[in-house]
Amino acid sequence: MKFKSTSFKINSNKPFEIIDITNKINQEIASFGANEGIVNIFSKHSTSAIVVNENETGLLKDLEFTLSNLISDEYSYQHDKIDNNASAHLKSFLLSSSETIPIKDSKLDLGTWQSVFFIELDGPRNSRNVSLAIIFE
Ligand code: ZN
Repeated sequence: MKFKSTSFKINSNKPFEIIDITNKINQEIASFGANEGIVNIFSKHSTSAIVVNENETGLLKDLEFTLSNLISDEYSYQHDKIDNNASAHLKSFLLSSSETIPIKDSKLDLGTWQSVFFIELDGPRNSRNVSLAIIFE
């Protein structure tokens, strides 16, 4: 077994943005020569998320719609007194900061309809940092 870690940067362009990072992760896995193993994908930010789901345009709009209905921007949240982005943090609480996914045949062993997404909840931002930790052989 070997262990390697790396990270890459993401720039977001909108307040809420879903960015498919599947290909980027597969490139990193291939560059490590990882045939089989597991990879942990972790976002180092509390107003973003890493999730696995289907890359279908309508569905991604549905996620934005659902999150914005669950966590209204109309309320006055305590954290808004600090830096005015409580709703972004609260959406991040409901999602996940990381995913751990099996590697098979030198790529993510995802289901047919699954992609890995970085979700920006407080954009636009430069240099969002996503780290990968890979255990492989
Ligand atoms: Zn904050």
